Amino acid sequence: MKKVFLVKYGEIALKGLNKPYFERMLINQIKSRLKAFKVIDIFKSDGIVYVKMDENESDTQVIKEIKKVFGIAYISLSYETETDIEMITKSAVEYVKNLISETQIKTFKVETRRGYKQFSLKSPEISSLVGASILKETQGISVDVHQPDYRIYIDVRRDKSYIYSEKIQGYGGLPLGTNGKGLILLSGGIDSPVAGWMMAKRGMQIEAVHFHSYPFTSERAKEKVMDLAKIMTQYTGKIKIHHVNLLNIQQQIAEKCPEAELVILSRRFMMKIAERIAKSNRCDALITGESLGQVASQTIHGLVATDHSVNMIVMRPLIATDKVDIMNVAKDIGTYETSIQPYEDCCTVFLPKHPSTRPKLENILRSENLLDVEGLIEDALLDTEVVTVEI
Ligand code: ATP
Ligand code: MG
Repeated sequence: MKKVFLVKYGEIALKGLNKPYFERMLINQIKSRLKAFKVIDIFKSDGIVYVKMDENESDTQVIKEIKKVFGIAYISLSYETETDIEMITKSAVEYVKNLISETQIKTFKVETRRGYKQFSLKSPEISSLVGASILKETQGISVDVHQPDYRIYIDVRRDKSYIYSEKIQGYGGLPLGTNGKGLILLSGGIDSPVAGWMMAKRGMQIEAVHFHSYPFTSERAKEKVMDLAKIMTQYTGKIKIHHVNLLNIQQQIAEKCPEAELVILSRRFMMKIAERIAKSNRCDALITGESLGQVASQTIHGLVATDHSVNMIVMRPLIATDKVDIMNVAKDIGTYETSIQPYEDCCTVFLPKHPSTRPKLENILRSENLLDVEGLIEDALLDTEVVTVEI
């Protein structure tokens, strides 16, 4: 029997007139994920993408790669057969015999979907005919329509039909590149890689900016961010990172402004610099890993004072997410282990003892006016290093 990976999509299916565009983008992404593999054919038909691979490729590896493409509801490794009841039955029996030899299957249920409406039999008729043949030609298994160990799915299509039993969940979302480009403020922590990943999941291409305080922060801190970006590229494709030195700005703030405002003032500078980088690199939005109330600078007052610094949409996908949930996503996508490695963040270098949790915008603006904001931003932009991280 020939193996075919069936890729089914969720939200793209609802796209109306734009659907072909989203499907094309999805196929491009699948092709690019499978670059290192021997692909025989990838095509779409009736709202499903079919992926045929060289038989020597590992099924688990292929599924692992396809899973990283956004826009997919689920993936099934199926067996192709002719759209003919005898062939379908024969293949299904063989399929279940394989399952018996490889698994602990005791009960099953056949479920048919008839995409090809002209087929001579109706779905329930196909299921019961195939089910009866499976029972007749195998031993030790029975039908359970409520809680079967395995559901044997039969997809009847016009040209070919497909048999499978597993639906491996994808991440959903929309294909990369269908929703502009976002500039993620990427620290070395747990949150920001997850935030970037979440926006990429909605179709955004990702570029990144990282602020360091070299030589107060080490080379290692910068490398850590590159490591995180590298993990993210598995989902997002290549990422351009702008490394900006914030040290001079932090020193100026520490010298001239009230200590309690240091964090908010540096965060405003980060945002302003990010906005400039975004605009000169055609990014449509800024993205941060902020979560309401998580730390002093992320109280509602802190966020208001930070947000006010820029004139550009700021996406904060984690705003209503608890830390444990963010950590779980980080573990799932593979950034967690790198994020928890110790490093010095530029924010912790100048951490005040009592950061303000209720900053007043007017006070913050007054303090900021003590600084040459424009000059400092321009200097920082000149002290920027750009590196591209590839998969
Ligand atoms: P994270 O896990 O992302 O470090 P955090 O809880 O440590 O989050 P903060 O340090 O307050 O939070 O930062 C909030 C957000 O600001 C981060 O999620 C990130 O988007 C941005 N940010 C913070 N520090 C930096 C940095 N050094 N470079 C770039 N962006 C940063
Ligand atoms: Mg941080």
